[in-house]
Amino acid sequence: MGPETEEAAKVKNASESREGSLSPTPFWGALCIMAQLDSRPEAYRHYHECQMSIRKIIHVDMDAFYASVEQRDDPQLRGKPVVVAWRGNRSVVCAASYEARRFGVHSAMAAVRAERLCPEAIFVPPDFPRYRAASQMAREIFQQHTDLIEPLSLDEAYLDVTENKSGLPTATRVAKTIREQIREELRLTASAGVAPNKFLAKIASDWRKPDGLFVIQPEDVATFLPLLPVGRIPGVGKVTEARLKQSGITTVGDLQLLELAVLEDQFGRYGVRLYELARGIDHSKVVPNRPTQSISAEDTFERDIPLVETESLIRRLAEKVWAASRKESRIARTVVLKLKTSEFNILTRSHTPPQPPATCEELAQIALWLRQRIDLGAQQHFRLVGVGLSNFRDAEDLQSPLFDEALQKVVS
Ligand SMILES: [Mg+2]
Repeated sequence: MGPETEEAAKVKNASESREGSLSPTPFWGALCIMAQLDSRPEAYRHYHECQMSIRKIIHVDMDAFYASVEQRDDPQLRGKPVVVAWRGNRSVVCAASYEARRFGVHSAMAAVRAERLCPEAIFVPPDFPRYRAASQMAREIFQQHTDLIEPLSLDEAYLDVTENKSGLPTATRVAKTIREQIREELRLTASAGVAPNKFLAKIASDWRKPDGLFVIQPEDVATFLPLLPVGRIPGVGKVTEARLKQSGITTVGDLQLLELAVLEDQFGRYGVRLYELARGIDHSKVVPNRPTQSISAEDTFERDIPLVETESLIRRLAEKVWAASRKESRIARTVVLKLKTSEFNILTRSHTPPQPPATCEELAQIALWLRQRIDLGAQQHFRLVGVGLSNFRDAEDLQSPLFDEALQKVVS
């Protein structure tokens, strides 16, 4: 079984709204024409900026966040391989310190595997209230610079600093200042990427990790992108990567050679997105405070299998989704099971129990029960399975004596 994506679980947010392409105002239009006629670098820069986007985006990503909080708060853990995970056969790694990563340990890996790779690792159970508190402090630092903050998780956020509140002259200076503040006030390190859009900012923050800052200027995009492996593009998981590799495509530069129609034919709507991302185009806005709508995880099998053989994977996916949902302050009401047949037909079944699942086992049980509602005969084979939680509600909206009990178990 090979994972379709490397992420443990995808968290989907509300209003995946994409802004249309920048409609150039008469001013920008005139500037573009001027720039095309004018070969001075400054004019080119303006031209390029109006072509790309005029946004300034920072992606801030705390380094090995949960593990770093543990090392900060317990001097005995410093400099040692630390794995944040619950104990147990089915547990997955929530975070690994850089010392543990040297042994090949990484988040979303089975905890038993991490133990095998690094027997001297110190296992620490996750303490989300403490991580949330540190995350909130980082958030307060961001708020000194901009109100346009889109958190992706407790340890990652996009900031739109096209206009910043702190009066600093450049987005790079804002990113530097934020990193210094995090170091001084939180005694933690963060990596930051600065770029004209979210896609490039996220790639940039990863470039000098840990404790790094990387800036992609609009005029650097054309030289920077072609060298990037396709696997770095969001949404390109191992399966897509392998498919592209079969066609001789390993870098974004290779991808740029494919026409839109070809990509659309191969990958449907995602093909359009691939076409744009390969050119560094991403119009998605930083959307402040958008609440999580769904969390899901899915896996593609190496060979197609019948329904009866899907149980162990459904259980594993339920673990991932459950771990991710524990970081949310809101509660999911609906359990979703997704299957893709060998003919690429997608089937989804969902169930909203009277009370939201209160344990990982309950989530797995509901997902397995939903499997019975797939009625395609024993001969049918499947290539992919996914488990999800959706229909997230604020805890206050679900207040009821019965619900309180479930809530106590979920929000620890
Ligand atoms: Mg991080």
